Order: sequence, then structure tokens, then C-alpha cells
Amino acid sequence: MKLVTELDEIRNLSEKARCEGKVVGFVPTMGALHEGHLSLIRRARQECDLVITSIFVNPTQFGPNEDYARYPRTLESDCALAEKAGCDVVFAPEVEAIYPREPLTKVHVDKLTEGLCGRSRPGHFDGVCTVVTLLFNLVRPHKAYFGLKDYQQYVVVKRMCADLHVGVEIVPCPLVREPDGLALSSRNKYLSPEERKAALVLFRALEKAKKAHQSGETSAQNLLKLVRETLEAEPLARVDYAELVDAETLEPVQAVQRPAVLALAVYLGDTRLIDNLILD
Ligand code: AMP
Repeated sequence: MKLVTELDEIRNLSEKARCEGKVVGFVPTMGALHEGHLSLIRRARQECDLVITSIFVNPTQFGPNEDYARYPRTLESDCALAEKAGCDVVFAPEVEAIYPREPLTKVHVDKLTEGLCGRSRPGHFDGVCTVVTLLFNLVRPHKAYFGLKDYQQYVVVKRMCADLHVGVEIVPCPLVREPDGLALSSRNKYLSPEERKAALVLFRALEKAKKAHQSGETSAQNLLKLVRETLEAEPLARVDYAELVDAETLEPVQAVQRPAVLALAVYLGDTRLIDNLILD
């Protein structure tokens, strides 16, 4: 497996593969790789001839009081894990190479970014959409793999690519959990042992809603009451949001009549975790 840091090198490498008729698959990440990321790489390996994984902690998608400075950076072990999962190239550029000057250009997706994480993290999705566009311009993949753990991100990026005729197929991949149910996240590393135990409350709350829905409950009010009561019973947890939204428009729904997503963001201490469940 090759480690590339230079922009020209990744452009040339991908261009060459395209000219040879190869399918280029791309997995954008911020590193601190875990089984969630690796599931994306494995999927790309099955479907593509050249698999490129980017590892770039993108400063423009973090708010001023967020965890950019302390975000885990573990490039060496990430490369070993990526290689084992079938990655051909890790692209890990320096921040100065990606942003050699103050960028004056932003990619903004309306409406879909107004609620959920967009409301709690102003500017976050502008940062995401801009860096994804920038990385797509460098890597020029045919297919890009996104986890449904970040459900809103998937919907926003998919719409951005459709609106701008980007010509990259966005492939959604299932959310991967720990055996006990906690959604895998690079931010789980921040949790103290007590917070790690308490963090299971997100999965418990979603499971309760899932059971209720399976038993015929469709009212958003009732499903959310169940979820909020479960979350609020955990003293270490502080709810940022718990919402039931349409799976396509991301607008709040009154009842589950079409596919809907129950989306949560919950603080455990300073660590903000997200999780979701698709109901259809
Ligand atoms: P990140 O490094 O957090 O920016 O995530 C990079 C990609 O991995 C995104 O498409 C995420 O949705 C995906 N991802 C992160 N955690 C998981 C997970 N637990 N299951 C599936 N995909 C994930």
C-alpha cells in the first residue's frame, strides 16, 4: 500500500487508473480508523479496482469550541489497518497543502443542513461539503463510500453531488456498532470508563423506539417521548437533540408513514456522540 501526501501525486495516480479503464473508489475519513471506516474500505475493495482512503482532519468543519486540536491523529496505525482492509492508497495531505491560503469559496447545501447537526454545529456542513468537493476534485473517484452513522452527512453530500452534477456515485454503507451496541466513532476514545458505560443509553433509547415501532407505534410524539425518557434517565447524558425526520427531506415528521430516521446527538461529559435508526 502506498502513502501519498502530495496533491499532484494523487491526481496523477487517479488519472492514470482512470485512463486504464479502472474504477476508482474513494473513502474519505478523518482517521483514527475503526471497524466502521474499515467496513467502507472493504466495500470499496469489492466494487473498485483502485481504493483510495483519505485521512485528513479538516479544520473547516470544526466549530471554534470543538475538538479540532485534540482530535486523535494516528496515521501509522491507520495505514496498517487500511492496508489490511484492502486499501491501495492512503492520501494524507498536510493542512497547508489543502488550504495554502484563506479559502474564499464555500459549498453550501440549503435546507437539508438547517436541522439536526446543522443547527447544533453552525458552518459544519459548509466545511464538509467544501472539503468533500475539494477531495473529489483531487481524487476524481467514480464511487465514494459514506457511512450511515452520519446520516445527515450522507443525505447532504448526495444532494450536493446531484445538484452540481459532480459525477461521483455516493454509496451508503451500514452503521457499524460495538458488540454491546455503541456506534463506533473516533470520538469514543474521549470517553472515561463511566461515560463509556453511560454512552450505551443512545443504543438503548433507539432499541426501545425500534421495538415500539415494530409493535405498531407510528406517532413521532410517542416514539420521541420514549427516547427522551430513556436518555434523560442517564445522569451522565445531556441531550443535544432527539428528532424523528423524513429520511429524504430531513424535515421533522408527525408520524412514520414513509422511511424516517430517528436521529440523536447526546453529550457524555464534553464528548458529543451521534447515532440514528432508520424506521420504515
Ligand atoms: P469520519 O472519520 O468520522 O469523518 O468518518 C469517515 C466515514 O466513516 C464517514 O462516511 C462516516 O459516516 C463513516 N463512519 C464513521 N463511523 C462509522 C460507523 N460506526 N459505521 C459506519 N460508518 C462509519
